[in-house]
Amino acid sequence: MAVQQQIQTKIDLITKPLSPVIKKSINRENVLKDLIIEGINKKGGFVNTHAHLDRAYTVNLENFHLAKATLKEKWFLVDSIKRNSSVYQIYDRMSYALERMVEQNVQAVGTFIDVDEVVGDKCIKAAQLLKEQVSSDIQVKFINQALKGVINPESRKWFDLGAEFVDIIGGLPAKDEGHEEEHLDILMQTAKKYNKPVHVHVDQLNTASEKETELLAKKTIEHGLEGRVSAIHSISVAAQNREYRQELYKLIKKAKLNIICCPTAWIDGRRTEELAPTHNSVTPVDEMIPAGIPVAIGTDNIADILKPFTDGDMWTEVRFLLESCRFYNIEELINISTVNGLKVLEIPYIQ
Ligand SMILES: [Zn+2]
Repeated sequence: MAVQQQIQTKIDLITKPLSPVIKKSINRENVLKDLIIEGINKKGGFVNTHAHLDRAYTVNLENFHLAKATLKEKWFLVDSIKRNSSVYQIYDRMSYALERMVEQNVQAVGTFIDVDEVVGDKCIKAAQLLKEQVSSDIQVKFINQALKGVINPESRKWFDLGAEFVDIIGGLPAKDEGHEEEHLDILMQTAKKYNKPVHVHVDQLNTASEKETELLAKKTIEHGLEGRVSAIHSISVAAQNREYRQELYKLIKKAKLNIICCPTAWIDGRRTEELAPTHNSVTPVDEMIPAGIPVAIGTDNIADILKPFTDGDMWTEVRFLLESCRFYNIEELINISTVNGLKVLEIPYIQ
């Protein structure tokens, strides 16, 4: 069979169950992209499960040089932006970002907002304004970012205030390094108190020395929160050996943990001399989906000092995911971009 014919047959195979009309556009070079976008739109549009819209569009020529700092340095470097922002500036950023999302047919967004001793309750006030103004075209779920940790008394005070306001309890155990278990216990006790789901940043640094996804799964089971907890990133899972990964996937399934993949956020994981199985710095979606683990997608930071060039384009994220994981299952890519995201944000999927 000629190569062209083989390609045609393959395209026919993957397109038939989704769209009989796709043959009309079979010769267009972006046929596969169209196919995925069409499937996403049929399921109500993209779901951006992870963002930090309160800091979106804060990169400029004055602070751009800070983008070279490490993640942990940036946790402090964003302080001056937070301190110098008014409620209305934060509202403007979030509102502008949401408009850009609506333009891409994003049906729902989950965004972290900083609530801590530096920014105070300004993001809560901005989020409250946004809730009153937001268009009915998009649903927004707020999640509190614990950028100062949750253990020291001052940070805990702000965490508790944020937890009461938001829809989802957010966490960052690496900020309470050495006390990660305690950090997760506080998140989960709070989640149970308010009957809210939990989203936690884990395994971000692409090193086998991090085992935060495993800890999160164990804590989820210990607290009886199966099905209500999502791990954001889980990049370092790919740095572990095969046996560890397979055991971890079983544990993740037992904990009914969801995984949120933000492909462009960590594709820039730095080269190190650490030896590990050959892999790239992306959540191993190609292994997780076949293992039966729900994976959703997010943009993470948009045009701030953490990710100065990220523009919040959802197709870019899907493209990075499918390319970096060589994951070509069209149906699953559509689910990752839509219904899995709704599940993660606990928004019912109405067909
Ligand atoms: Zn994040």
